[in-house]
Amino acid sequence: MDTIQLPEKVKYIIQELRADGFEAFAVGGCVRDSLLGRIPGDWDITTNAKPAQVKQLFPHTIDTGIEHGTVTVMLERDGFEVTTYRIDGEYEDARHPKQVEFTQNLTEDLCRRDFTINAMAYSDETGLIDVFGGMRDLEQRVIRCVGRADDRFDEDALRIMRAVRFSAQLGFSIEQDTLRSIASHAGNLSRISIERIRTELTKLLLSDHPERLLAAQELGLTRVFLPEFDRMLATPQENPHHIYDVGAHTIHALQHLVGRDTQLPPKNQLILRYAVLLHDVGKPAVRTVDAAGVAHFYHHAETGADMAREILRRLRFDNETIGSVGHLIALHDYRYASENKAVSERTVRRAVNRVGPDWLETHFLLQEADLNAQNPALLPDKLRQLSEAKALAGRILSAGQCISLKMLAVNGSDLIAAGFPPGKSIGAALDDLLNYVLEHPEANTREELLARAAALLEPGKH
Ligand code: ATP
Ligand code: MG
Repeated sequence: MDTIQLPEKVKYIIQELRADGFEAFAVGGCVRDSLLGRIPGDWDITTNAKPAQVKQLFPHTIDTGIEHGTVTVMLERDGFEVTTYRIDGEYEDARHPKQVEFTQNLTEDLCRRDFTINAMAYSDETGLIDVFGGMRDLEQRVIRCVGRADDRFDEDALRIMRAVRFSAQLGFSIEQDTLRSIASHAGNLSRISIERIRTELTKLLLSDHPERLLAAQELGLTRVFLPEFDRMLATPQENPHHIYDVGAHTIHALQHLVGRDTQLPPKNQLILRYAVLLHDVGKPAVRTVDAAGVAHFYHHAETGADMAREILRRLRFDNETIGSVGHLIALHDYRYASENKAVSERTVRRAVNRVGPDWLETHFLLQEADLNAQNPALLPDKLRQLSEAKALAGRILSAGQCISLKMLAVNGSDLIAAGFPPGKSIGAALDDLLNYVLEHPEANTREELLARAAALLEPGKH
């Protein structure tokens, strides 16, 4: 295990509190991550000082959750949550503690925390405070509840999702009794707000072990917040392209992304992981089996895009994420050529136009993940086509070929100046010109397009 190196600002906060006679420690996720050699996302501090006393000691603080004992101490631009030792009261609805009670006892504070690996505290003066065997569980790589698992999940069912999410982020297993208790409390998840569930699902998907979604399904969790995934696992694909059912295929596709999508901006990475999760969500609904026993999934991309948008709305995602995931799913099955045929630049130009240059890299990664989770016997030709498409797309873009209305050599005002009546017909004419230029990239000149537009103006000539 690594040693804990507190950042200077954390040391400063702890020292200030100690100088005034209080206890103070770094606690929770930052201690866990430091010991694992991972970079903590944030540093939380726990203290027996009351919020008012913390506020007195530091000139810049924010009342983040003062009724729960949390004050954010600002040092320059960095904020650190300093929370008073507390005992969480009885939980009202498997979610909210009815009241919190402050305490002077660190162990009582550690005891309200969810898992042993999250219930350790540290200061340079005291070293590691590990009351519940967190260190042992870090070494054995297990997620285990602090205290009785049944009680802990009764208090807060979100911990069910957190257990699976941490197991995916850290590659840990879940201890037997904790696992048993999760399965028996799965139904309580329905009382947890969908936003909080979504946060955990997103972290699970973005982790190095997105396949832990299968554990979530086996434990009865996805049935509560993503029953569509349960249907995917129950949908076989009897055709030459596939060797897995829809659910297993999806999991393999997600695993393919690990280590391969890190170069994307974080927002695109999230969108891609949800797009891969849901790219075939339409398949169960459109599945048909022909006389020869072969399964078909006609129009599953469009159906899937609609369903994905609905699911993401249900998960309360923002419109941009919903739109982008839907867009990628609608086009995920885009074919560039028939089997064993070369890919034409023209087909790729149309694809670039439909996908849009900003989404191209993400789109290709989605296709790569999808293909790699299909029948390996057919993979080489599919990958060859994909790599030809990528190379051609690169060439089309670097040559500055027109692939959008924006890049057309004429715009609406040009057409109006050329005598087109303002109105709907302008849009139709521009679409026609773009369509033409997508076939004939060399035709994207003012002269040629105005001539073509003029011809369009004269009935009978076109
Ligand atoms: P990360 O920041 O990577 O999501 P974390 O463990 O720091 O992981 P936070 O949500 O930041 O998680 O919470 C900080 C600490 O608060 C946890 O380590 C844990 O000790 C405690 N904690 C958070 N949520 C709960 C919960 N639902 N039940 C019990 N303890 C919790
Ligand atoms: Mg944290």
